[in-house]
Amino acid sequence: MIEKFNPIPREKQMTLNIIDNATCTFCGCVCDDIQLHSDDTRIHEAKKACVLGKAWFLNHTADHDYPDALIDGREATVDEAIEAAATFLHDAHMPLIYGLSNTTCEAQKEAVALADRLGGLLDSHTSL
Ligand code: SF4
Repeated sequence: MIEKFNPIPREKQMTLNIIDNATCTFCGCVCDDIQLHSDDTRIHEAKKACVLGKAWFLNHTADHDYPDALIDGREATVDEAIEAAATFLHDAHMPLIYGLSNTTCEAQKEAVALADRLGGLLDSHTSL
């Protein structure tokens, strides 16, 4: 058997994962036939995704590349971030709960309950 020469040292070689029928949740179409190519850190290819879906997938990296939370751009614990968010929301006169396009139904349900409790507004990016 002839082994091909690979100039990248073995310890630096990455494993390529291919996932068929991945679901894109960027917009309401929720395409569920996307083929993703990724290594351990990021997605490199999103076959069958439209330009928006490709941009969404390719700009996501594994969570461990980022801190758990940020407050004013500084790294914080999740508990500190929750406390800061609660303070911001409590002090707001008309809080807007916005976004939700990349969230699960359960998270959207919680967001609606939060908007109700705060007496605030609820909207998604589809209204733009
Ligand atoms: S691939 Fe494009 S059309 Fe399909 S859900 Fe993603 S953003 Fe929407």
